[in-house]
Amino acid sequence: MLTTTTSRANFFIQDVWPKFETEQQAIERHATLVRQLQKGDHSAQQVVAKLAECRGHRRCGSPICPMCVRAIRRWSICGMIACFNELFAANPSGLSDKTVRFSAIPREEQYREGELFTADLWV
Ligand SMILES: [Zn+2]
Repeated sequence: MLTTTTSRANFFIQDVWPKFETEQQAIERHATLVRQLQKGDHSAQQVVAKLAECRGHRRCGSPICPMCVRAIRRWSICGMIACFNELFAANPSGLSDKTVRFSAIPREEQYREGELFTADLWV
């Protein structure tokens, strides 16, 4: 069982993925999206209002918000790298550089062998 808390990694995303979008790029994409939506109908205006809530450490949480999507991608990639690092430290020969897939399951969604059928997949 892994013991790493993967919510924070000790590196910057650009150190491991130099072409990962920068915060400035996400901010510019956010501004462009807001400008485009401001020309839209009432529904678009509602989305603009939601996106306007996204500032600093107060995220709007919208799935179309470039800043929130970047934050989620950054968090998940850093978490995966931290997990890989922990696995590799525990068993250096167990992971090769040929690993191409990764799946993660939150602790609260873990099931004992033979009990996966009890998972509620309709959420
Ligand atoms: Zn946002």
